[in-house]
Amino acid sequence: MTSAQRPAPKFPLPLERIAGSGTRSGAPGLAARGVLRPQAPMQQAAADAARRVVPSGLGLDSIEVRRRMVQRLQAKGLHDAAVIAALLAVPRDRFVDTALVNQAYEDTSLPIGHGQTISKPSIVARMLELLMQGAATRRSGSLGRVLEVGTGCGYQVAVLAQLARDVISIERVRALHDKARAHLLALREMRVRLVYGDGRIGHAPGAPYQSIIAAAGGDAVPQAWLDQLASGGRLVAPVATQGGRQQLVVVDRDEQGWQRSVHDAVHFVPLKVGLD
Ligand code: SAH
Repeated sequence: MTSAQRPAPKFPLPLERIAGSGTRSGAPGLAARGVLRPQAPMQQAAADAARRVVPSGLGLDSIEVRRRMVQRLQAKGLHDAAVIAALLAVPRDRFVDTALVNQAYEDTSLPIGHGQTISKPSIVARMLELLMQGAATRRSGSLGRVLEVGTGCGYQVAVLAQLARDVISIERVRALHDKARAHLLALREMRVRLVYGDGRIGHAPGAPYQSIIAAAGGDAVPQAWLDQLASGGRLVAPVATQGGRQQLVVVDRDEQGWQRSVHDAVHFVPLKVGLD
């Protein structure tokens, strides 16, 4: 059984339930109910990530390094205060391999294994700003319930968690799904639910979503995403153009239907079919 088929837990997830140690009331935890199975390698990876030693002298653990990254993004046009705060809150160095930690705060995509990459901070910022512009029309001003397609190493989902009520993120590569879970456990990030599955069909049990964001680009926006987008919601995704390039597409849904607008040229990994 994949986690995609398991019942969705309530948000937020208390840590002890994520860790599978049961609830305080003594009721069986998610692990005991088979919702989140603790796996020895995953726990080991979480422990390793938590213990990760950042090379001395780099100060990568310091908020200062993140502040400088965000200042460079502001110089390139980032201005949404909530997105700025969210980027400042998440240590990107914890999501990349130790060998790449020196580059964690550069505005560059980095390999995360399995032929995939963590997106450039400026692209993450741009997509989140576009999502937040949609949220500005809602009274809460929050992203609400979010669906992310393409968890990767879990960095963007950690940033999204700062801006949303809750986030569901789907990944089709099992090893990356496990890696992201380890990273998020190490940071004690509990507002996210990770699903192993093919994100092209979205995640119907969590629908409707006020915000949908994709980190991989297909030939078109899948119908399932349009169906699972709430009225008043906004979707941001890279989509292939006729010339074989990609552009960010924004879809807003209201009572009348779906409105589509096309934005920046981008370069994302492909939205693939099936599971690895
Ligand atoms: N947001 C991620 C970016 C990862 S790159 C991060 O912060 O690291 C995009 C991811 O999309 C890859 O991990 C890739 O495996 C995943 N992906 C591609 N097609 C997919 C699909 N159909 N369903 C779910 N994930 C998919």
